[in-house]
Amino acid sequence: MTTERFPELPDDLRVRAGEIGRSVLPELLRHAVPWEFSSWDCSVPAPGGFADVADLEYQRLARSELREVLRDFLRAEWPERPLVHVRPDLLLTVEIEDDGAAVRAEPSTVYVAGRYRKLVRGVSQTVFHCRGCRGRKRRYGAACASCEGTGRQVPESVEDFVAPSICGVVGGRSAAFHGSGREDVDVRMLGEGRPFVVSVEVPRRRSIDAVALAAEIASRSGGRVEVRELRVVGREDLARITTEHGEKTYRVVVEPQDDAALPGDAAERATTFVGVELAQRTPQRVARRADLVRRRVVRSVRVLEVTSARLVLEVRTDPGLYVKEFVSGDEGRTTPSLSEAFGVACACVELDVLAVGEAGATAEASQVEEAGEAGEAARADSADQDDGAAQAEPSPREDGPPTS
Ligand SMILES: [Zn+2]
Repeated sequence: MTTERFPELPDDLRVRAGEIGRSVLPELLRHAVPWEFSSWDCSVPAPGGFADVADLEYQRLARSELREVLRDFLRAEWPERPLVHVRPDLLLTVEIEDDGAAVRAEPSTVYVAGRYRKLVRGVSQTVFHCRGCRGRKRRYGAACASCEGTGRQVPESVEDFVAPSICGVVGGRSAAFHGSGREDVDVRMLGEGRPFVVSVEVPRRRSIDAVALAAEIASRSGGRVEVRELRVVGREDLARITTEHGEKTYRVVVEPQDDAALPGDAAERATTFVGVELAQRTPQRVARRADLVRRRVVRSVRVLEVTSARLVLEVRTDPGLYVKEFVSGDEGRTTPSLSEAFGVACACVELDVLAVGEAGATAEASQVEEAGEAGEAARADSADQDDGAAQAEPSPREDGPPTS
């Protein structure tokens, strides 16, 4: 059946390719055993038993012939599994050497998506390395004084609870957490949660029991982090899921500073911000970033609770609006602000994210229509997130090595 494929190939090389293929097949099948996979491919990169053939063109053809022979054998072995050339679940590589065949099996990265809810404050999204020792735990030959040798600026992260559980379930070698934006350490992530993807390298399995996995993560975190909508997704879904888009909804607790009182009409003044565009110079708390002016709109304001000492709002904003600075004014760097409108210095003493991205169906619908400049801008600075991300810069991460 292969005779049609490479009519220019001399018969002796064709016969040799068939013999090598037959001898290598058991080894190939043995290497595939440990891995769960559906799609697969087989490649023969090295001279592959034809190094003695002087004509390079014949060498190349013979190698292609061997690859096709192996694919034919494997198709027959795995009739239900598709042969896929781009990012197959399992890539088998065969190098024929004088003393036999070297076979490598490389499973491609598996991606598990979901949404997380962070029910407590004081937990970072990803591992937040100590600024003093940059996570090395030691400094000047002794345990780092800043972190007492833990290597952490914040002891715990959502990543700590989620990534190892997922990595364990699919039997992978290492895992990386990719969030769709992030909230500050002191901000809770409530509502439907924030989308994330965990990529796992060298996974033995490619399927998950979503219910059991969610239970394990809840238990590992002592109920402080919950995940939902866990599912395996493709490499092509990664960017879409982890790119922040859509408006954000927050619960904001505002308190006047220095024993001052809020004005009697604070609730009315707060609601005048609907549709107002704020000009926000990069906040002092994230001043390590380039100093620029961001323009973002407050989309809606709902008053949940008001006294002279405390105002609780539900605020919906453009992505990337710095909410804490919308309250404080950041010494004039954000304008207008609630402090400015009230004539009293105020602080955001509690912040919760209630909805982000796809969870707010209405927010998403309106975002599609408005996906002009604001959408572009949101993507451009998606590294620098909705409520300021005063925590560590996201660690540079590989999106997973190409496996084909
Ligand atoms: Zn340290």
